[in-house]
Amino acid sequence: MTNFQGIVRCKCPKCKTGKIFEDNGNVFVLRAPRMHAVCSSCGYKFEKEPGYFIGSLYVSYALAVAEMLFLFCICFPFLSFEMLFLVLILGLLLLSFFNFRYARTIWIYLFQL
Ligand SMILES: [Zn+2]
Repeated sequence: MTNFQGIVRCKCPKCKTGKIFEDNGNVFVLRAPRMHAVCSSCGYKFEKEPGYFIGSLYVSYALAVAEMLFLFCICFPFLSFEMLFLVLILGLLLLSFFNFRYARTIWIYLFQL
C-alpha cells in the first residue's frame, strides 16, 4: 500500500494495516471522530507529544479552502450571492469532520519518521 492509499484509508503510516480513527464521527449528530492513541497492529504512537495536532489546522485550512473554491466554481454561475454564501457555509459545516480526519492523517504522514 502506498502512502497515498494509506492516507485515503486513514491507516497507520508505519504498518498501513491499523486504523488511525476508531470512529469516523457523524456530523448530523455532532459526534466527533475519535482517534486511537496507538496503532492496534504495531503500537505506533499517533500523538507524539501534547499539542502535536495543532499543526494539522494548517492542513485543515488548506483542505477547506480547496473545497470552498471547488464549490464556488461549481455554484457561481447558478446562484445569487446570498445563496452562494449559504451553500459555502453549509458545505464547510458538512465537510468539517471529513477535514478533521484527513488533516490529522496527512499531518501524521508528513512527520512519520
Ligand atoms: Zn501500525
